[in-house]
Amino acid sequence: MSCDFLALAQPGVQKLSPYVPGKPVDELARELNLDPAKIVKLASNENPLGPSAKVIEAIRGELVEMTRYPDGNGFELKSKLAERCGVTTAQVTLGNGSNDILDLVARAYLAPGLNAVFSQYAFAVYPISTQAVGAEGRAVPAKDWGHDLEAMLAAIDANTRVVFVANPNNPTGTWFGPDALERFLSRVPENVLVVLDEAYIEYAEGDELPDGLKYLARYPNLLVSRTFSKAYGLASLRVGYAISSAQVAEVLNRVRQPFNVNSLALAAACAALDDAEYLAEGKRVNDAGMQQLQDGLRALDLNWIPSKGNFLAVDMQREAAPIYQALLAEGVIVRPVGGYGMPQHLRISIGLPQENARFLEALAKVLARG
Ligand SMILES: *Cc1c(COP(=O)(O)O)cnc(C)c1O
Repeated sequence: MSCDFLALAQPGVQKLSPYVPGKPVDELARELNLDPAKIVKLASNENPLGPSAKVIEAIRGELVEMTRYPDGNGFELKSKLAERCGVTTAQVTLGNGSNDILDLVARAYLAPGLNAVFSQYAFAVYPISTQAVGAEGRAVPAKDWGHDLEAMLAAIDANTRVVFVANPNNPTGTWFGPDALERFLSRVPENVLVVLDEAYIEYAEGDELPDGLKYLARYPNLLVSRTFSKAYGLASLRVGYAISSAQVAEVLNRVRQPFNVNSLALAAACAALDDAEYLAEGKRVNDAGMQQLQDGLRALDLNWIPSKGNFLAVDMQREAAPIYQALLAEGVIVRPVGGYGMPQHLRISIGLPQENARFLEALAKVLARG
């Protein structure tokens, strides 16, 4: 009899459920024999604008270097980010997406016997990265779908090494303001690393969301993680970054794969940082799409969780899985969030005007069937 290699995996891994991504367009096209061009995907909070022309040009220029390893230190991108963020390059860590950053934190700071605190309904990668290294994930009950920061503070104990906080959170879109962040940071024990995940910060305006970078000087236990996957439109290239104290960055660098960000991604991210017009256009499209979706949902008598991201979690007022399936049959891919313990919600990424309209039409049609 052969060995049971599931039973041999470390206990945390045995209990892991893998991350469930949004359904790819080509997969649905194959399954339903549809033209991929006719499918609308509003499932993974991707930038609906498509890549910026400047990014494409930068990648083209880099292609001939493909046979060489990338710059493992990401010198140019780190320099640009350091300047942008008002920190030194020693405080910047680059990741293969910001998921990589979350994983680096878990591998460097968590282990069996230790725990990480995060919120119920928080981003799925927090429990996965935590469990993958055999640490305990503590999901703290949410308040109005958002982080209950007081309860999260209370959940911290002597074995807590990391608190994961997403602002705004995915998949709920919930957020907290600068005062709440300050109150929280001032009370987290100084030996607990606070990972402030700001994957959607570029969509925020004014003071509605705190800029995590402003707190770094006062709180050396703070790490701010950001990504090029959303507002910068580079989801497929996998590039994200963390800004932290130089010491934390040095520790993360010890466990980082030597060439975790490829040369095309490095070149693209540099070009994206310089393309302010693309970012501004993305924000305009997102604001207008948010309005369009909310108007359409209101007309269908549906509610949603207020969101500061590029997505909305919509309450279907009944089991959402059949609605998700029916939308697929209409060529519209959204995101079921039953795996997050939200069986009545669907998460809708904000798309271009015509994509949002397609979704609303398809939803009206599906709901009319009862
Ligand atoms: C999308 C997202 C990320 C980014 O993932 P990448 O690995 O950078 O593509 C991180 N955190 C949250 C909360 C997200 O929604």
